[in-house]
Amino acid sequence: MKTITSFILLLFCCLAFHSQAQKMDTRVLLEDIQFLSSDQLEGRSATSEGNKKAANYIIERFKDLDLSSQFPEYTQSFSLNKRLEQLGTGENIIGFVPGSASSKIILIMAHYDHLGTKGKDIYNGADDNASGTAALLNMAAYFKKNRPLQSILFAATDAEEEGLLGAKALLKDFPFPLNQIQLVVNMDMISRSEDNTLYAVGTRFYPQFKPYLEKSGERSAIQLVFGNDGAKGELDWTNASDHGPFHKEGIPFIYFGVADHKDYHKPTDTFENIDQTFYRQACELILNSILEIDAAME
Ligand SMILES: [Zn+2]
Repeated sequence: MKTITSFILLLFCCLAFHSQAQKMDTRVLLEDIQFLSSDQLEGRSATSEGNKKAANYIIERFKDLDLSSQFPEYTQSFSLNKRLEQLGTGENIIGFVPGSASSKIILIMAHYDHLGTKGKDIYNGADDNASGTAALLNMAAYFKKNRPLQSILFAATDAEEEGLLGAKALLKDFPFPLNQIQLVVNMDMISRSEDNTLYAVGTRFYPQFKPYLEKSGERSAIQLVFGNDGAKGELDWTNASDHGPFHKEGIPFIYFGVADHKDYHKPTDTFENIDQTFYRQACELILNSILEIDAAME
């Protein structure tokens, strides 16, 4: 009898821990990254058919979640650079969850475009950046169910690989006064790491967020490392992805990403080569960081 009671107690503890540790639906998260990096999306380069399929997938998910948006069909169109402008426009996909307590905004970003195809090779871009895009979709699902205090704008950006064009367009035509943005969280390459390390870039400039990141980092099985924000002798990733244009305007950002790996910008950046355990943990860590920050900011 005693054994059974202990067993039931243990089971309850496990379940409680499990539900506390897992805020996102892992199955959906993996389905999303697998679809977004599948061959049928042909590497999602800006203006391509595969890119449109990715955009439509994100739009459908935002519709299913009944997110609001400041843009018709969740779509902010923008003109591209000289090389691409003949081929079409870029499309940022934007969803919105209003906060319950504040008009301040947390902007969560991830670019969904990638390099497309070269000859027979498909650049699937599973880590870069189907990983961040799928994380964004599942965070939108979480915050739709669990209303945040600050408003959250979810921006799946296009044409990052062409020079951060989607992020620049979003900054230029941001649907709210820029001073309402408390923080930009950018996710770009978060699904694999040989040394189990996720970087949080930006605290050199915006140290006010560091304690909350440390708190969620301590609760994670992966290592959260600060830096790569251009201090002496360090790498500088402050303009390496979509957070760059916002940082240049003095808008606080935290960029989450991993170190470049052997499959970076190669046709081998595939779903099979991500680390599912690391990815799930990275997503939870980032979500927990956002929750800590949302709870602490007024
Ligand atoms: Zn990227």
